[in-house]
Amino acid sequence: MSNYKKNILITGGAGFIGSHLVIQLVKNYSNYRIINIDSLTYASNLKNLLEIENSSNYIFKKIDIRDKNAVYKILIKYEVDNIIHLAAESHVDNSIENPIEFAETNVIGTLNLLESARSYWNNNFLNKCFYHVSTDEVFGSLGTEGSFLESTPYNPRSPYSASKASSDHFARAYHYTYKMPVIISNCSNNYGPHQFTEKLIPLMIKNIVNNQILPIYGDGKNIRDWLFVKDHIEAIDLIFHNGKKGETYNIGGDNELNNIDIISKLILGVDKALSRSEGSSKKLISFVTDRKGHDFRYSIDSSKLKNELGWVPKTGFDEGLQLTIDWFLKSFKEN
Ligand code: NAD
Repeated sequence: MSNYKKNILITGGAGFIGSHLVIQLVKNYSNYRIINIDSLTYASNLKNLLEIENSSNYIFKKIDIRDKNAVYKILIKYEVDNIIHLAAESHVDNSIENPIEFAETNVIGTLNLLESARSYWNNNFLNKCFYHVSTDEVFGSLGTEGSFLESTPYNPRSPYSASKASSDHFARAYHYTYKMPVIISNCSNNYGPHQFTEKLIPLMIKNIVNNQILPIYGDGKNIRDWLFVKDHIEAIDLIFHNGKKGETYNIGGDNELNNIDIISKLILGVDKALSRSEGSSKKLISFVTDRKGHDFRYSIDSSKLKNELGWVPKTGFDEGLQLTIDWFLKSFKEN
């Protein structure tokens, strides 16, 4: 029998959000054993976990969630009683090129985890939790008004969001059908250290540093609600411990910005950090053909999480962006 109070399986813990979650849980809960499984795709980086990799309450295993047998064996071996599921193919542009890969990891991979947990927990759901981490993109696209609530009907419009919506439906179905203690959270766009440089903010930082073009889709007016990754982690920690099983929680930053405004802020910040003349990198901006089916606006209403569990995002956008720029500039120098 494990001596730990909880044996938590985190999937996708070598990715952007997962790495921050693993670090927070390993450091803050020495009485929990954290088992991180990740297949180490291009988007992962084990270097982001160096500060905890030798901790006695941390285990890493290279496992693909598409491999149900391997997942099931991990649950048994480490007496897993809680799962926080983040592993996914996460880049919308890739999903447009390769939708099947997204269905295999995001849908079948999630189903493999749910099935393995159902089998291993065998209807004994006491002190168990299956926490599924999802996105606000499942709700579709908004015009200039309104925000997504937990009750907003799903209307995914990209292969990525369709695969995440499908995995949310399966997770919820396991709660209703088998009474599995499932919690889902749907979060807005994250930014911060450790994010792979295909995503808007790190890609733009990299290109400004290297004097390469800054490709902006369409007219650059698409709006996202941005949240600093550590505020997302605080929310997951809180929901995991205090959220009600069977419930869904929206998580957002109350920080709506269009792509042009973000890129302008990045140009200012990076030019300043590199002692270039103010705004000199504006010349790198290049408007390119819009992403197919590009959602116009996401906006998420997190009042349920705020009112019921007392969560508030702590990091202002400018502060979070500065931390992100500083981290990437340092990491580019080191690599
Ligand atoms: P990421 O792409 O940075 O990391 C995903 C991780 O999953 C990687 O380490 C990758 O190696 C791993 N992975 C991929 N396929 C796998 C497989 N078949 N088996 C095992 N591991 C596999 O993604 P992220 O931005 O950290 O997102 C994490 C989760 O949060 C995803 O489920 C995503 O849908 C969700 N989410 C992300 C955001 C965001 O803005 N990044 C917002 C809301 C929700």
